[in-house]
Amino acid sequence: MALIVQKYGGTSVADLGRIRNVAKRVAKTRDAGNDVVVVLSAMAGETDRLIRLAHEASLNTPSLREYDALISTGEQVTVSILAMVLNAMGYRAMSLLGFQVRIMTDNAHSMARIMNIDTGVVTNALSEGTIVIVAGFQGVDENSNITTLGRGGSDTSAVAIAAALKADWCDIYTDVDGVYTTDPNVYKKARKLKKISYEEMLELASAGAKVLQHRAVELASNFRVPVYVKSSFNDDEGTLVTVEDSDMEKEVVSGVTCDKNQAKVMVVHVPDKPGIAAKLFTPLSDRGIIVDMIIQNASYEGFADLTFTVSKKDVPQVREIFDTVARETQASRVEFDENISKISIVGIGMKSHAGVASRMFSALARDGINIMMISTSEIKISCVIEEKYTELAVRVLHDAFKLEKERK
Ligand code: ADP
Ligand code: ASP
Ligand code: MG
Repeated sequence: MALIVQKYGGTSVADLGRIRNVAKRVAKTRDAGNDVVVVLSAMAGETDRLIRLAHEASLNTPSLREYDALISTGEQVTVSILAMVLNAMGYRAMSLLGFQVRIMTDNAHSMARIMNIDTGVVTNALSEGTIVIVAGFQGVDENSNITTLGRGGSDTSAVAIAAALKADWCDIYTDVDGVYTTDPNVYKKARKLKKISYEEMLELASAGAKVLQHRAVELASNFRVPVYVKSSFNDDEGTLVTVEDSDMEKEVVSGVTCDKNQAKVMVVHVPDKPGIAAKLFTPLSDRGIIVDMIIQNASYEGFADLTFTVSKKDVPQVREIFDTVARETQASRVEFDENISKISIVGIGMKSHAGVASRMFSALARDGINIMMISTSEIKISCVIEEKYTELAVRVLHDAFKLEKERK
């Protein structure tokens, strides 16, 4: 008998037939004597549709409060339908929205962070034998405004609820049956991992592997929630995301991932003196724009170029901000390049193996892929390349590090 949180993603609840399939899985877990909390996403494509609608209705300037109120509705549909289907099957089940649970977040609309979850309503329902179905992706701030947690945020809702309830584990059901060495929809030689450490999963997720939202991995790691990534369409064993163990050290590289959502910004010919970087980046952070890689080339005659990456969706805002900031810093011009992508390799074994970076660069060079920027962390190396080479780079690096073969 366990307390299990099960999260089902958009493709798993894409229509009534699929929701019935989810209901069968939930019922089976309940029949085995477990307490079950289900967290759902919106139907596949629904959040995208709502986002387009928000932009159309507001002429591209939605109030973020109303934006969240609208785009959170997709989840309200799926949770109530699942509750109805389970009721019709003879089970006690109840849907709850974020504000009904009291999933408290900060007020950073469209990318809010969960601060606290009241467990009272959920535990009362569970103690009465009810299956609790919570809307993912949404919360409420201290002024009762609805907030959303960023794209893919239902994963985070599920892990946060599992942590708050001290659940035995959290199952993330999706359209692939685990975490692979790379996106199996990009390269068919990708191999499913039995286990992956929180640390590696966090780097993969932050570098673009959308199978788990990175905030979900961060929470799982902080609260030591075991997470299983599985398919909702079959019963294959999934991947366990857990604490690092001694086996994992053998893997120099565990995965390759890519991120096509980045854009490169180059601030050309800025005076190389104290305070310039602060002048450039403070207005960006004030607007909540996340800057990823940053490089500054060597100064020449008192001037330098500064290059960094931001998410593609933030480019219009960055353009607007830099209209004035560039003048203030006396930069000669600002160039934007949206035809780039970031390709990353991740592995705990990098800590103890030399030569990983050079192997990566040589592999890319052999196929004529130019590297525009490089950044490294203890267990990750990322390169910015031309977007058109993304899939090729994934295959080349997967082959170069022989990821299709399991290490013994
Ligand atoms: P859901 O709607 O269930 O949340 P997502 O589309 O957010 O599903 O995440 C699942 C997708 O993540 C897969 O279909 C796959 O294309 C992609 N993906 C990217 N990297 C990986 C990886 N390393 N392993 C497995 N899937 C990956
Ligand atoms: N429905 C939301 C999205 O599409 C949240 C999620 O699916 O995790 O981003
Ligand atoms: Mg997702």
